[in-house]
Amino acid sequence: MRLLPALLSVLLLAGCQRADDGALVVYSERREPLIEPIFARYRAETGVEVRFITDQAPVLIERLAAEGERTRADLFLAVDAGNLWLAAERGLLASIESAPLQAAIPAHLRDPDGRWFALSLRARTIIYARDRIEATELVGYEDLADARWKGRLCLRSSKKVYNQSLTAMLLARLGETETERILRGWVANLAAPPFADDTLLVQAVAAGQCDVGIVNTYYLGRLQARGEALQVWPYWPDETGVHVNISGAGVTAHAPHREAAVRFLEWLATPAVQADFASINQEYPATPGIALHPVVAAWGPFRHDPINVVEAGRRQVEAVMLMDRVGWN
Ligand code: FE
Repeated sequence: MRLLPALLSVLLLAGCQRADDGALVVYSERREPLIEPIFARYRAETGVEVRFITDQAPVLIERLAAEGERTRADLFLAVDAGNLWLAAERGLLASIESAPLQAAIPAHLRDPDGRWFALSLRARTIIYARDRIEATELVGYEDLADARWKGRLCLRSSKKVYNQSLTAMLLARLGETETERILRGWVANLAAPPFADDTLLVQAVAAGQCDVGIVNTYYLGRLQARGEALQVWPYWPDETGVHVNISGAGVTAHAPHREAAVRFLEWLATPAVQADFASINQEYPATPGIALHPVVAAWGPFRHDPINVVEAGRRQVEAVMLMDRVGWN
């Protein structure tokens, strides 16, 4: 009979917390079609189930914060360094010491304290209409502020975090005065009001609405992989390097399965998985030297802006204020 109170408390506990079947749980900003096949492969290879919910990163961050120690999330996956930085700043991610992760992911693509690691790389570069423009006419991001591009440039909305991160990286490299001068030039050169998404922007360049634009290359890659023969091509600025952002993940501060979550991250950073994780969306692997999607390989190699992507987070508020001040809608 003395067992009864103990048994009761176990039953009560089981009633409050759903039974733990050892499955990993991911809160993901990356969309379902891009993660589901990868997670299914992990289950096939290891027997470990990976469940997920997807939402906008700010929503997932608030949810993690609200859940605190009671969270069921083991990992947080975002598609912008700024959002990973924010989650880390809010104390929602654990510091991970992992030799395989440090070896696989270059230092400028991970948190110095091991709270998040890039899983794929997204190049935000200049695209141009190659039926109307020679690549030799292009110089780099700063040059698009020059008056000779007046009425020829298309940009996406400044509300998108990708442009906020791009601006933040310009701030980190050039300082406020020079970045403001460039942004004012870009806005003065716009051929059309800022676009709601990068796909529309690629199509606007193809259609002749503008000659040049700035997009994440996978939007072009998606159209090309679908077989659309667009006269649009990426240009790789060499002297400054190409602005790169990441999709990446970290283990949550209160992960119910911390060790298993680290092993899953390490698996995601292995060469075969890196190739699939990137090519499913025509992105670049975070690990150098991995085979690329054929559409992506055709664009040729480029040099990264070597500034750590953490600057995208650190300078994001400043970037948003600056974009607002110059009238980039
Ligand atoms: Fe995107």
